[in-house]
This record gives sequence, structure tokens and C-alpha cells, in this order.
Amino acid sequence: MKEIREKVWFIGGAKKGRFPYSHSLYLEDPGGLLIDAGAGPVLRELSGKTEQVVLSHYHRDHVSYNSYFTGAAFSVHREDAPGIETFEGFSRLSGLDQLNLENFWEQDGQIKFLATKADRYLSEGDYLDFAELKVKVLHLPGHTPGHCGFLVEKYNLLFAADIDLTRFGPWYGNPSSNIEQFRRSIRRVRELKPDLLVAGHVYPVAKNIDQKLSAYEAEIDRRDEEIVSVLKEGPHSLEQLAQMNIIYPRHYNQEILLFFEKNMLQKHLESLVKRRMASKTEEGFFEAL
Ligand SMILES: [Zn+2]
Ligand SMILES: [Zn+2]
Repeated sequence: MKEIREKVWFIGGAKKGRFPYSHSLYLEDPGGLLIDAGAGPVLRELSGKTEQVVLSHYHRDHVSYNSYFTGAAFSVHREDAPGIETFEGFSRLSGLDQLNLENFWEQDGQIKFLATKADRYLSEGDYLDFAELKVKVLHLPGHTPGHCGFLVEKYNLLFAADIDLTRFGPWYGNPSSNIEQFRRSIRRVRELKPDLLVAGHVYPVAKNIDQKLSAYEAEIDRRDEEIVSVLKEGPHSLEQLAQMNIIYPRHYNQEILLFFEKNMLQKHLESLVKRRMASKTEEGFFEAL
């Protein structure tokens, strides 16, 4: 735990915040407010001094230590609430209901679903009810429908959750994810010009934030371009494209990663078709235009 601004603590997640963990932010003030609960056992020492837990989105790597905070009030955006409240909601938003994954929850890195009841729903422009530090809720959808960021106005510090500046780039692998929304959310963060950006899976960033966000968004364009260049060589099906590791460098024989790869490719293909850069044949192949 590190105090990065007065009364604002960065809680580094286990495994350097890599999946299935993520970084958290803790605001120390009467009561105590925690943003995201996926950092790992390190969170246990905050369990007695946290009145509110605010969740950026429903993904398991951001909520899996909710159970440490049974006395706290939980908040999440309404569109992501089903993903923490019921297993059915989680399955639907994540798309896991489309997969037949018998031993999925026993797989390395998967965190079993535990329900959390939301006490309050977050909306764009809300201020978190908190004593000294004003924290504004920003609805930044795309990664998930209800994905939110949190701006600590006093320090112009943004917790951007999974607009995360990782080298992997933007992730939109659930059926409920949306590329165009993701792009708009990245641009919105750029316009805010935060002085410090804290994200779910990288260490806090204070330098060249705008440049890094721009490079992060450019990864979406790189994927588009790679798909188009493959299609220029000849028509390809989604299945064929999914074997080419355009999104994930490796799938490690994991069905789930192939599923995410296909979902992300599918969204690119839909967008390319819409922009008349590709078309779909009657046989279900995609070709460049
Ligand atoms: Zn996420
Ligand atoms: Zn995450």
C-alpha cells in the first residue's frame, strides 16, 4: 500500500496486478472508501476500516475480495449490477453461458462466482457520498456496459479501471463489450487530462498520459489493419481468423481465450462491414472490399 496523494492510497494487486488480480484505490477519511476489490489478501487489513466499496465493473478480477467487506455498502453501475448480483447475470454479460465449460471454475486463475448485493447504483456525474475528497463518477462504457472511472477532483487523479494502458491494448471480449464505446471512453479520458492515472492492471501513470492513451487506442486500429491485410489475401471465416492470433499472441489451448478472441474479431468484422472495408459472403466468409 502506498500513499500516492494525501489520504489516497494505491493498493497494488498480487502478481503485479495481473489477472486474476487488479489494483485498488483506497481513500482514507472517516469511514474509508475502497475502489475495486480484486487486489488480493492485502485487502484484508482494510476490511475493518471501509464503509463503502465502489466497483468499477463486474469482472471477477475486480470484485473477488468483496467478501472481506461484509459491513460495507457496495456500489456499481446499474448496467453491470447483474454481473455481481447473480450468476445468471454474470453468465449473460460475460457470455460464458454460450460455452460448455465443465471444469472452467477449476482452471488456473478462474475465480468462483460469489454474489454481492449492490446497495446503490452509480450514474454518470454522481459524486460519491464521502466526507472530504470529492469523487466524481464517470460512466466509461465499452469494456463492459457499466464500466466506470472515478475522478478525485482535488488531485485531478483518475481511477480508470480497465482503460488500463496495458501493452495488450483495449479488451472487449464479452458479447456485451463494445469497441466504439471503448474508443469514445478513451477519448473522454484524454480530454479530461488527468494528472495521475491509476488503472486496474498497470502501476500509476503520471507522465505522457495522453500519448499513452493514444497508443492504447491505436492498438484497435492495428487489429483492424491486420484483419484487412489478411482478408486481402483471400476470404476467411471467423474460425480461420481466430486461429491467426491477431488479438491474443497465444491461446495456451484455452477454450476461453479462443472464445474472447472470436468475440473481439467478430466486433472488428462487424465494424469493418459497416465501414464498407469488408463484406460477408453467403457462405459466411469475410472478404476485403
Ligand atoms: Zn475488466
Ligand atoms: Zn481487469
